[in-house]
Amino acid sequence: MGTLLEQLHKMQINDAVEDLTAKGGNQNVTAHPLDGIYYCKACGYIFDEKKEGKAFTTLSHCPICGMGQQQFFRITGEREF
Ligand SMILES: [Zn+2]
Repeated sequence: MGTLLEQLHKMQINDAVEDLTAKGGNQNVTAHPLDGIYYCKACGYIFDEKKEGKAFTTLSHCPICGMGQQQFFRITGEREF
């Protein structure tokens, strides 16, 4: 049973390392997939997290009309904010 436990432990370490790598900005490894799409009610601008390669939460305001995040609503994606 010792070897199985060791393997399990190794897997957990690998997961932790992958998580850290993702937080370090490696775009090939993302701990949380950026799959949200947000729509600006004011001007119709669409922020696609996957396309932009960054989270909507990093967007302080609409790049088109300058409205804040409260003017956006989420079209798709799993995360609440
Ligand atoms: Zn806008």
